[in-house]
Amino acid sequence: MPATAVKPATTECADPGAPDHEVLIVGTGFSGLGMAIKLKQMGMSDFLIIDKADSVAGTWRENTYPGCACDVPSHMYSYSFEPNPDWSQMYAPQAEIKNYLERCTDKYGLRDHLVLGTKATGADWDESAGLWRCRGQGPEGEVSLTARFLVSGIGGLHVPSEPDFPGIENFDGTVFHSAKWNQDYDLTGKRVAVVGTGASAIQFVPEIQPTVRKLDLYQRTAPWVLPKLDRRIPKVERALYRRFPSTQRAYRVALYWFLELVVLRAIKGERFGRLAEKLGRKNLERQVADPVKRRRLTPNYEFGCKRMLMSNTYYRALGEPNADVITDGIAEIRANSIVDSGGVEREVDAIILGTGFDTQAMATSVALRGVGGKLLGDEWAQSGIQAHRGTMVAGYPNLFFLLGPNTGLGHNSVVFMIERQIELAMKAISEAGRRGPGVSVAPTVSAQRAFNDRVQDELRDAVWSRGTCQSWYLDSHGRNITLWPGATWQFRNELTEIRLDEYEFAAPEQPAAAENRITAAVAA
Ligand SMILES: Cc1cc2nc3c(=O)[nH]c(=O)nc-3n(C[C@H](O)[C@H](O)[C@H](O)COP(=O)(O)OP(=O)(O)OC[C@H]3O[C@@H](n4cnc5c(N)ncnc54)[C@H](O)[C@@H]3O)c2cc1C
Repeated sequence: MPATAVKPATTECADPGAPDHEVLIVGTGFSGLGMAIKLKQMGMSDFLIIDKADSVAGTWRENTYPGCACDVPSHMYSYSFEPNPDWSQMYAPQAEIKNYLERCTDKYGLRDHLVLGTKATGADWDESAGLWRCRGQGPEGEVSLTARFLVSGIGGLHVPSEPDFPGIENFDGTVFHSAKWNQDYDLTGKRVAVVGTGASAIQFVPEIQPTVRKLDLYQRTAPWVLPKLDRRIPKVERALYRRFPSTQRAYRVALYWFLELVVLRAIKGERFGRLAEKLGRKNLERQVADPVKRRRLTPNYEFGCKRMLMSNTYYRALGEPNADVITDGIAEIRANSIVDSGGVEREVDAIILGTGFDTQAMATSVALRGVGGKLLGDEWAQSGIQAHRGTMVAGYPNLFFLLGPNTGLGHNSVVFMIERQIELAMKAISEAGRRGPGVSVAPTVSAQRAFNDRVQDELRDAVWSRGTCQSWYLDSHGRNITLWPGATWQFRNELTEIRLDEYEFAAPEQPAAAENRITAAVAA
């Protein structure tokens, strides 16, 4: 880490025209690292990547629960420009994905650009200088720096959602969220309550069920769980990918179209969805004999409304005699027990929250002030979280959200989406650079509105909003702020070109005093 990379907080304004760095990237997951790699490849080395954690890899550093793995095939859930022939499983475990991101950090020489243990807290757009004044909290206190461009890669599934159950403060046992797994706590022989039945819970429940004395699963809604087409990738296949990279590329293409043509159809198409429901019911019936448990585990909503889950072991684990599925809500937590809304009290030693993430934290966790000092969190509180093409926001020049609003997927790899957004960001940065030193770029209000109206129109009639469907994809107004409504190739088409009439370019009042490095990189 360069010692001078982040300056201590100061009120001094040394040179209003020249930023400390051309680009500041926040976050070291697939988004932040991907952006950094592409900047380097463009010949731009004046960037800094900060992360509040002490190591890279984002999601895949944070989530260390037993059984943690991706649920999109690894050959697709990785950068297109950095294939990994050595994935050991169709759905690689957490440690392998973390190692992959660590390797990318080394291979592309990103370590010198990293400032870890530093949390971004806010950034203000300085209109006259045409740069972002950014604030953060580092190990030695407050830090500040300026950057021409700001890239947010802070992740949509990053801040754990931890419900405040009545009486939880009185609990004498251990409580932790799946994203903050307590590795020091031995679950062997314990009475464990698991709250939630989302993508993380269905991975760790089968791992802990054989070792715990009692497993009480508190379920609000039963997910659709389909068989997981997982397999170990044999050494010979890995060798083939290594020796003939084109075979791996072909495999990725096949996976891509399977996910787009089959899985997306199952989620969005009613006829395909009914077939998927049949498959889910069979999966349940094959593994759970007890009719009461089966009834409780049968979803009561249309397939696709919530995230589709896959597991070959979840139902089997819940079918075991030491596991119970409780559908009454949690009314109270006492020193050694949980009381459900039916008045039944069950003793527990530990509570594991599989309650997912605060998907709206993106709006407020870094306080961003744009043109005229407007606070983005306030604007989004009124308009709903939205961005132009999921990436840029009118009134907030030179700001890019990777995995921003409406770029999430239920059927394919979000790394594909991140890469498209990075391409758009690079084009916007180049276009601004081409126009001269310090020129900034932001989408117009009308372009952003037109884009979001179109996206919301498409989402309105889709499975995620149909009938009584409720999920974490929706905000408190029932607006889907999370998902991209269509196929990922349609997203690619939307972002392939930067349509210049959708953007405003502005020169700062005080042009850059130093050589504009973006302009130089573009010229080179
Ligand atoms: C358990 C789990 C499994 C998943 N599996 C899949 C899958 O199979 N397929 C799929 O497509 N998606 C999956 N996802 C979604 C996953 O989040 C994305 O695929 C991807 O990892 C997001 O990358 P990111 O870089 O945008 O964000 P993250 O990986 O979340 O990284 C964000 C980084 O920003 C840092 N950060 C946050 N706030 C600040 C701040 N204020 N200042 C400084 N640093 C900050 C964090 O410390 C973190 O390192 C999964 C998510 C989870 C939780």
